[in-house]
Amino acid sequence: MLIVMKQEATENDVARVCEVITELGFVPHPMPGESRTAIGITGNPGAIDPTHFADLPGVAEAIRVTKPYKLVSRDLKHDDTIVRVGDVEIGGDEFAIIAGPCAVETPEQTMEIAEIVAATGVKLFRGGAFKPRTSPYSFQGHGKRGLEILADVRAATGLKIVTEVLDTETADLVEEYADVLQIGARNMQNFSLLRRIGQTRKPVMLKRGMSATLEEFLLAAEYIMAEGNYNVIMCERGVRTFADHTRNTLDLSIVPAVQHRSHLPIIVDPSHGTGKRHKVIPMARAAAAAGADGIMVEVHNHPEKAWSDGPQALLPEMFKQLVADVQAIHKVVAAASRPLAIL
Ligand code: PEP
Ligand code: MN
Repeated sequence: MLIVMKQEATENDVARVCEVITELGFVPHPMPGESRTAIGITGNPGAIDPTHFADLPGVAEAIRVTKPYKLVSRDLKHDDTIVRVGDVEIGGDEFAIIAGPCAVETPEQTMEIAEIVAATGVKLFRGGAFKPRTSPYSFQGHGKRGLEILADVRAATGLKIVTEVLDTETADLVEEYADVLQIGARNMQNFSLLRRIGQTRKPVMLKRGMSATLEEFLLAAEYIMAEGNYNVIMCERGVRTFADHTRNTLDLSIVPAVQHRSHLPIIVDPSHGTGKRHKVIPMARAAAAAGADGIMVEVHNHPEKAWSDGPQALLPEMFKQLVADVQAIHKVVAAASRPLAIL
């Protein structure tokens, strides 16, 4: 169930509804919007009698939710969610760019790439300290040492750090260092990890599982939000298909699909989505044209020597071009009427 408050409802009215929900033994999730606040309810095993709320001051209506997800839905929150990472906004007017190496390799490599990224005006830096690798014999990341290198990069450049949290055991550690917690494709349905990360209040970038449907993707975000963390950024990174010219098939049609159903921002990762650097710029441009809220790309100063994902890493010059291209395309798309296009 979701409770829609009247436009003129006061903070006290919202607090009273939340109190009643808590007294019933459920969890209230107030979501303020531009024109009205709605309150989602979770923790209820079945339908709730709407008469509990009908006479409370400020309540416009109590609506039964028929979709399997509640808090991610545009039914609950009509306005786009803007996720804030310091002074950087994802889902607002700006096109967000996250860039950096696949993995933190050495302090020098990480710092050099960070300087390349920062020089373009990009504010969000990625790099894995804990790496999910297909083979147990491949480089698994430097763990805590990698996080320390990322913290040094932040201190030196001001870049915000996006890094993957691989499991619940290392969640406390990664939370201490990261500005944005990345949940990788392989973990999109690791429900205990989703719950654990839902208990933080740090922004989360949730990557789409490699065979996840739209509904599964949204429900994974719902796990995080149900724990009270509403700062979720969705990330399309390609799905597995029969196509063998590409590492994954980048499914850009999920961008308007997510925007239609959900208020959460969605970004696109054309690096893992294609696996080859010559495809990254065209698909990043396409992501901006499709109306994505941003992109995440891998960049390396010496891709031929990269410890992971070298073939998809952009060279510094390519990255500079990409930043200019996607920003120009985003301007054109932003001038078009997005709400009319998606709703
Ligand atoms: C990554 O972004 O470093 C990564 C491992 O991506 P994915 O989880 O999408 O494979
Ligand atoms: Mn990678």
